[in-house]
Amino acid sequence: MSLLAEPALTASPVVDRPYANLDHAASAPALGAVVDEVMRVLPEYASVHRGAGRYSQITTDRYEAARTQVARFVRARPDDSVVFTRNTTDAINLLAGVVPGETVVLDVEHHANLLPWTRRGRRVVRCRDTVDETLDALVTELRRAPAALLAVTGASNVTGEVLPLGRLADLAHDAGARILVDAAQLAPHRAITLAGTGIDHLVFSGHKLYAPFGAGVLVGRSDWLDDAQPYLAGGGATVDVDGDRVVWHTGAARHEAGSPNVLGAIAIAAACRALTDIGFDRIGVHEHDLRVRLDRGLDALPGVERLAVFGDDDLDRVGIAAFTVAGHSPRAVAEHLAERGIGVRDGRFCAHPLLERLGRRQGAVRASFGVETGADEIDRLLDALAEIC
Ligand code: PMP
Repeated sequence: MSLLAEPALTASPVVDRPYANLDHAASAPALGAVVDEVMRVLPEYASVHRGAGRYSQITTDRYEAARTQVARFVRARPDDSVVFTRNTTDAINLLAGVVPGETVVLDVEHHANLLPWTRRGRRVVRCRDTVDETLDALVTELRRAPAALLAVTGASNVTGEVLPLGRLADLAHDAGARILVDAAQLAPHRAITLAGTGIDHLVFSGHKLYAPFGAGVLVGRSDWLDDAQPYLAGGGATVDVDGDRVVWHTGAARHEAGSPNVLGAIAIAAACRALTDIGFDRIGVHEHDLRVRLDRGLDALPGVERLAVFGDDDLDRVGIAAFTVAGHSPRAVAEHLAERGIGVRDGRFCAHPLLERLGRRQGAVRASFGVETGADEIDRLLDALAEIC
């Protein structure tokens, strides 16, 4: 059954309905279940891993349970670690500090998955016109010279295009490399399975997963992390300090020095639970219907051009669409929409090389949506765009 008639999959207590929030890719509004969970734990909130007091114990249990929930959400392997970080950028920088060799990336990445890799050596492969050709180019590059890691985005933050992660993991492994998936834009929209696809490392942010700002995760194999110096030196990361002799923890604690963002972690876990409860099958159908409605609407408007990296017709795309409107700057379009109560993003979306290769140096407009978006909001966007086309 199509869910198009439904206004949304959940009703947020946070979002004011007359405002059409079509900027989920920047930050997605907190789900009701996430707000409820944060309010529930706040009165019993204390610092983790240190106190014997009841609130400290409860908070420690909840923090560690959040780790388990995240691991379950991405179907991690039993010995994978879940490190809580500040966000996706922080998580990638952490991994970039421990990767034992060069990293291969595509030229369509968000800056967060492009810039950190230069520290240990980065090789950039240009995307081709189709996914298959691009995968071939990656194989050639990985065979040309050994690399430690292939770092790819799960879903583009500009076009919403989704790469075939299982195939990418296979080709990385065949070449003796590991794979990192930047799932900042994938995790809110698609079920992920590390165990099923062989993804070695995965990162995402709470604030794009319907949880608040300030927390993210790095999930995956722990050996590189255990072999490296701690990300931050300080309390919580140490087993013992005796003068200059320091014994550091292994596992997640090694890279979580300082008082962690417990509320952020608990909120991420609540979001993982809420999305699992809704079900990614339902989410997929809902977002697919909205996406088709949006794409058809945009394609029917004169002067509107939708952006895509790949020519593949059958490529999966999450609820993110970027476009330009002939004769109007992206900022003018975004302001026109804002005046009508519609929130979108304009600019280059921290993906300047991608916008350059798409011939949009001046930027574009991006509409993005999620579980709380209704068909009425897509229609409002299209109607407002029709006024200026
Ligand atoms: N990767 C992708 C694909 C993104 O869309 C974003 C956020 N726009 C990031 C990384 C960085 O996320 P954060 O700002 O939460 O670190």
